[in-house]
Amino acid sequence: MVGLGVPADQPAYINAVARLETRLSAEALLDALQAIEARHGRVRSGERWGPRTLDLDLLLYGDARIDTPRLRVPHPGIAERNFVLYPLAEIAPELEIPGLGTVRERLTQCPSAELERLAEQKQI
Ligand code: ATP
Ligand code: MG
Ligand code: MG
Repeated sequence: MVGLGVPADQPAYINAVARLETRLSAEALLDALQAIEARHGRVRSGERWGPRTLDLDLLLYGDARIDTPRLRVPHPGIAERNFVLYPLAEIAPELEIPGLGTVRERLTQCPSAELERLAEQKQI
């Protein structure tokens, strides 16, 4: 599912959630995600949550819990952000978020306000 988030203080943005298998460690995966962001023209200015070309966050890494200065998993916003939970629920509703219950359970606490579902994209 791809959704449109429409926050009050920045232009609408598109969100999606993907599941992947990897042999990379969580830290190496974060490196890879940030390298992709950089290739898509993202410049890290220090400002957080501002508009950017691409933001690839690591939401979960199996059932791991990680809390280092560079990486927190599950992602701290996973249970509150409707633009994360709704797309995640479409691919993994029964997934257990370590320490927080299932995605489906968290979804019931999370209003879908300001989310707009984009039409299915055809595979090309
Ligand atoms: P948020 O994490 O609240 O969605 P953001 O994605 O806008 O904010 P960024 O500017 O993309 O924040 O990243 C800031 C730092 O967050 C990164 O340099 C990275 O080290 C750290 N970080 C901690 N946990 C994660 C995670 N699970 N996924 C991605 N980045 C993380
Ligand atoms: Mg983010
Ligand atoms: Mg990020």
